[in-house]
Amino acid sequence: MQIKLRFLGAAQNVTGSRHMLEVNGTRLLVDCGLYQERQFKERNWEPFDFPASSIDAVLLTHAHLDHCGLLPKLVKEGFAGPVYCTAATAEIARIILLDSARLQEEDAEYKRKRHEREGRKGPHGDVPLYTTADAEACFPLFKPVKYRQPVPIADGIVAQFCEAGHVLGSAVIKVGLQFDGESRSVLFSGDLGRPDGPIIRDPSVVEDADYILVESTYGDRVHGKRAEIAGKIAQVVNETAQAGGNIVVPSFALERSQEILYYVNELLLEKAIPPLMVFLDSPMAGAITKVFRHHPELYDKEMTEFMRNGQSPFAFHGLKITETSKESKAINTIRGTIMVIAGSGMCTGGRVKHHLVNNIERPESTVMFVGYQAIGTLGRRIVDGEKEVRILGENRQVRARIEQIHGFSAHADKEEIVTWLGTLKKAPRRVFVVHGEAESAQSFGAYLQEKTGWNVMVPAFKDEVVLD
Ligand SMILES: [Zn+2]
Repeated sequence: MQIKLRFLGAAQNVTGSRHMLEVNGTRLLVDCGLYQERQFKERNWEPFDFPASSIDAVLLTHAHLDHCGLLPKLVKEGFAGPVYCTAATAEIARIILLDSARLQEEDAEYKRKRHEREGRKGPHGDVPLYTTADAEACFPLFKPVKYRQPVPIADGIVAQFCEAGHVLGSAVIKVGLQFDGESRSVLFSGDLGRPDGPIIRDPSVVEDADYILVESTYGDRVHGKRAEIAGKIAQVVNETAQAGGNIVVPSFALERSQEILYYVNELLLEKAIPPLMVFLDSPMAGAITKVFRHHPELYDKEMTEFMRNGQSPFAFHGLKITETSKESKAINTIRGTIMVIAGSGMCTGGRVKHHLVNNIERPESTVMFVGYQAIGTLGRRIVDGEKEVRILGENRQVRARIEQIHGFSAHADKEEIVTWLGTLKKAPRRVFVVHGEAESAQSFGAYLQEKTGWNVMVPAFKDEVVLD
């Protein structure tokens, strides 16, 4: 049997996940993600390294944009095969791809106007990378699969999706290959979550695999403890309520926003914080929260128990999920302490900017960050302690209390990845470390090799390996 693997994205960087598995004339693409790191964004415009129509099927690990965000381009260029993923992933990917297409269209229009004023043309003819219609053309191709059920892909090829514990619907995918009386398996970790996360189940145990592609986003560090999150949120809420201010939480729409609701609901039930109104003020987070409500079969034991007792972190007393911008603006007129969870998570756009304008100059209010803030973003400038920041075209003094809650990561750290791999009953033939910045991937590769003695490789962009 000849197995060919090509590393066409997220090789020594963290976005643009795209791996090709080719065996006996069948070509599979595992993920087809958008590059989001500034220095690699140009790659989104480059032609694919293969004719899109030559791909037989796409296997999608989860709905984050850096894993599914280039599907519309693939379909536009001629891919018409099935996209296998869990039902929750399909539902969330629709929301995320439509939002991405709208942003691509707005961006192209903005550039077209600017270039027209400047009397020049942009490098990509000022057309969007893909349109809303291109995104919509992907949806009929989604083929929902269930966790742990074998999915026949082609003659001799069967895939199995198991829980990755990263976001709702996320999967690690094992592709089983049977040719010429031999069998092999290739395991794709996708993005691997942490054990003991709220709401969704933990990453599932994998017992055997011949070849493994494993992510390494946090392959060079060890996270803080989750157990400290609830206590820290309680402290921030209590002190802000006492001061008479509001709590503004810039948050990511998928998973993080729902986790915040989970913790706040729990604190309210325990009476660890005073009753307060909580607004989820993000149309995308609101739509994704509906998907969470539709899929109770994906909940972990604690969450299932919780729901059985008539509680729901997505519908508790005091929670309001706002939809229209009128409802969003009305939040500013409320007196007394409220919590507003709004996107975007790094304050680069979205409704959170309006809430920052209304609160950042008030010493009694708190801006509570719950996720990573990339260099160059407004969120990063605020957590770095800048005293004056520009929001919606005006300079604002940072007088509010600034807090950062650690421990929320949706990615396993280096010890957690090694523990997960440690459930294998025998050594894999080879491990490929992907989805991490060069340093993190190299450092994790060396660490894993030292700990296990396995054959570990850190592939570079566009590397190709032939396995047997
Ligand atoms: Zn992800």
